[in-house]
Amino acid sequence: MTAERCVACGEPSSVLEKVVPLKVESGGKSTVIQDRRMVCDKCGNVSYVGAQISEHERAAAAAIREIEGLLSADELQRIRAKYRLKQTDMEQMLSTGPKTWTRWERGKVPQSKAADKLIRLIAEDPDVARRLMEQAGIDNPEASATFAQIEADAKLISRAAIRAELRRFQDGDIERVVDRAADAAFETVRDARRQAAARSEAA
Ligand SMILES: [Zn+2]
Repeated sequence: MTAERCVACGEPSSVLEKVVPLKVESGGKSTVIQDRRMVCDKCGNVSYVGAQISEHERAAAAAIREIEGLLSADELQRIRAKYRLKQTDMEQMLSTGPKTWTRWERGKVPQSKAADKLIRLIAEDPDVARRLMEQAGIDNPEASATFAQIEADAKLISRAAIRAELRRFQDGDIERVVDRAADAAFETVRDARRQAAARSEAA
């Protein structure tokens, strides 16, 4: 790449692309990224051109995510895709502004810690996701079908688990079997739902 004129000091052919270590800080902690940028040899003016701009934004956002222990942009995409939700659905469910989720998922901006907590709950518990979708009044047939499928899968998982539990009481009296079934159901349903959601993610 040929050197260009500096817009800051006016020196001709003094601006060249350089990769320099850049410290990124968040909440008192920091990390170093390799930052591709244009630098003037004469006055030191720094600028970003073309693809450098989004590269810089993404690398800085990814570094903050790592420092803060936030979900990565790819993880956000996988969580949303698991439930067949749209980016605009996520924005309504989390009560963020328009295009906010889009920027998070593209990696340009890191999500807040509060949003990250809620997204983790959504990822882990499909019932939370479904209820947030319903509360926001979102009509998304694909997502609804996905939640119905997870529910159906969860039912099979919990049925099998409860059946295995009750096999130990085959010869017991009906009252004990009923109590046992109720206790087993109480603990099994939530786990089954989570297992079914995890399967949906792997699929
Ligand atoms: Zn200069």
